[in-house]
Amino acid sequence: MLRQALLALSASKQARDLIMATPLTRDVVARFVAGETTDDALRVTDRLISDARLVTIDFLGEDTTDPEQAAGVTEEYVRLLGRLSDAGLSARGRAEVSVKPTAVGLGLAEHGEKTALENIARIATAARNAGTTVTLDMEDHSRIEPTLKLVRELRDDFPDLGCVIQSYLRRSADDCRALTASGSRVRLCKGAYQAPDSVAWASRAEVDRSYARCMRILLEGHGYPMLATHDPRLIRIAATKAGVVGRDADSFEYQMLYGIRPAEQARLAAAGAQVRVYLPYGSDWYGYLVRRLAERPANLMFFLRALSSRH
Ligand SMILES: Cc1cc2nc3c(=O)[nH]c(=O)nc-3n(C[C@H](O)[C@H](O)[C@H](O)COP(=O)(O)OP(=O)(O)OC[C@H]3O[C@@H](n4cnc5c(N)ncnc54)[C@H](O)[C@@H]3O)c2cc1C
Repeated sequence: MLRQALLALSASKQARDLIMATPLTRDVVARFVAGETTDDALRVTDRLISDARLVTIDFLGEDTTDPEQAAGVTEEYVRLLGRLSDAGLSARGRAEVSVKPTAVGLGLAEHGEKTALENIARIATAARNAGTTVTLDMEDHSRIEPTLKLVRELRDDFPDLGCVIQSYLRRSADDCRALTASGSRVRLCKGAYQAPDSVAWASRAEVDRSYARCMRILLEGHGYPMLATHDPRLIRIAATKAGVVGRDADSFEYQMLYGIRPAEQARLAAAGAQVRVYLPYGSDWYGYLVRRLAERPANLMFFLRALSSRH
């Protein structure tokens, strides 16, 4: 119930305006977000890479309704990639970028798909020049077909373009089977949006079973699985399955969100696994933060405690 309410809140314009205008403590946002500026993103990326993590950086923002805003987001990614390259952080894909298709135009009323395709191609070109890659985040279920279409089209020119499959969707095992070709970079996550029972598994147990099924398909395939979860049980299953199918440590990676289970991230990295941290930055943190609160009541308590300690 609480999760549904928070997910509804994450999509509400009124709640967004109200909460973003509230003087939230810096601590709450800073726990999950690198900061508001490109400098903040570079500083935290540098620290994470020095700590043996890989990084994927997300410039916060989604559901862009204006072509100029979509072009602005694209510019920011291109600038970021140039700076990562200058700082020596993007070589060999150590720091890459994650892009939400609706942030670069997919949801525009006119020519959305074409605009997103052109903008992502610009970002992917900048990533290639910086020696790294792009992963397209997956958003709510209405965006799946257009996003997978973008991936298919763009992979002709950018075969290392990553995509995301969400295990809460009933279709996901089939999508995974279609994405197991050599070099195919696929992030598997549970899914952070609201979706009707007609398209999504209703219970956590079913979502977890679907995750394990999708993970098996990806690990048995020829692509590059990126296993994005904080779930200790699924991480254990991943390690076992990777061993059974004879995967080398550099042929797949674990991914976790910045600020969540840092000790587990360190443990996996120390054990020789590749661990990539998803690092958001920017001032448009509202939707991202509320989705994190929806995932875990303890995060909500942290948020409320920080608010009350300020007032
Ligand atoms: C790198 C990355 C990229 C993502 N990209 C996308 C995307 O493109 N599209 C999308 O829809 N979603 C994305 N997500 C979000 C994802 O879909 C889930 O909503 C989110 O990861 C929570 O799911 P979980 O697998 O951690 O499992 P949950 O069911 O939320 O948690 C499982 C268990 O993990 C542990 N755990 C979780 N959180 C914490 C915590 N804060 N502290 C301690 N233990 C904790 C607990 O033991 C918990 O029981 C991404 C997630 C990651 C990690």
